[in-house]
Amino acid sequence: MKKIALLGATGSIGTSTVDVVTANPELFQIVSLTFHSSSEQGATLIKRLKPLYVGVGSQEIKSELSSRFPEVEFGVGEVGLIKAATLEDVDVVLTAVSGSVGLKPTMAAIEAGKDIALANKETLVMAGQWVMEAAVKNNVSILPVDSEHSAIFQCLEGQKQGNLNELVITASGGSFRDLTREELKAVTLEQALKHPNWSMGKKITIDSSTMMNKGLEVIEAHWLFSTDYDKIKVVLHKESIVHSMITLKDGAYLAQLGPSDMREPIQYALTYPTRLPIKNEKPFDLTQIGQLNFEPMDFERFPMLALAFIVGKKGGAYPTVYNAANEIAATAFINGEISYLKIEELVQRAVENYNETTEVTLSEVIDIDKQTRTIVERWIKEEGRL
Ligand code: NDP
Ligand code: MG
Repeated sequence: MKKIALLGATGSIGTSTVDVVTANPELFQIVSLTFHSSSEQGATLIKRLKPLYVGVGSQEIKSELSSRFPEVEFGVGEVGLIKAATLEDVDVVLTAVSGSVGLKPTMAAIEAGKDIALANKETLVMAGQWVMEAAVKNNVSILPVDSEHSAIFQCLEGQKQGNLNELVITASGGSFRDLTREELKAVTLEQALKHPNWSMGKKITIDSSTMMNKGLEVIEAHWLFSTDYDKIKVVLHKESIVHSMITLKDGAYLAQLGPSDMREPIQYALTYPTRLPIKNEKPFDLTQIGQLNFEPMDFERFPMLALAFIVGKKGGAYPTVYNAANEIAATAFINGEISYLKIEELVQRAVENYNETTEVTLSEVIDIDKQTRTIVERWIKEEGRL
């Protein structure tokens, strides 16, 4: 029985994880979970999963749920996330919170010797160097949940060190892949939230359309697979059937294919190296799909992808600034405070505005994350809806 801490249980990845866990009750048990503000959905999960510990977003939610579930221990905010992730009973922490809030509990879990099933890519974007070092030091595994990274991880299995040539990350192109930059000026939130292939949380759906998500994934891949940025390629693959690929020294390509169902990489991160059937899986038949297409990425059309390589290569806190500015800007777009193209403009400006040394400590990175948020929030307030 694998005992799981599920951080971000009420989200899109959290919900798919609960599906995987409840389909295999003899293998998995959720012993702690967290959510932020979705208290009714959270209460339903507590009833169903009977966790020992629950982290919530506010004192009010804690008070309300403590009286309904006196047998459960509750914690609030960062303290609650860290406690949920480091509980003695926990074997593996599935980090499915969205945003930089995932970093501290993930680090704490690694230091407590827990394996990590990592969905929260922001953790590696901000602190890849420290996270990967801590994982080695504490002898814990970091198993990717992000579908592209799970695909690469699967392709790398059994490969001899030194065989690898490049990582090839596929991108669906998101909801606006067929629009020109001129056409992007007038797009709405509703249009942005219609992802052609995947059903995901709002923020990552917006990030897919700006290609910010792919940018974060490039940086995530750099750390996870310890690969130079020059050896990471991105290709447009509209079908989202090939989840990603690797190329080898002799020119061979290895790819991992499957339906657009996050339960697959989630389950594999929890059962690795064993494979199990997935309940009610959509039929997947390549003869029905017929054709798979691959196109080069247009870096001018998607400047956030180009910027990812720039901030990734600069290193230090640059990726943190890139991510933090986007978290604020994408959220402001979701809340109707800014127009779509303003997201890219704010991220670009935040990166240009940051001009510090690339030698930073982890605690400085955490401060720079906070400072960037404050700066971008101020810009949005000052400039209003543009
Ligand atoms: P969602 O927005 O659907 O869910 C986010 C979860 O985090 C919810 O449980 C939410 O709680 C909780 N949360 C939000 N804000 C905070 C906070 N400040 N403190 C603590 N908890 C918080 O996100 P997704 O499931 O889409 O994504 C989660 C992570 O996984 C992201 O890092 C994303 O990049 C990554 N990912 C997602 C994929 C997908 O298919 N969705 C694919 C690959 C990676 P509440 O509901 O109460 O607000
Ligand atoms: Mg992905």
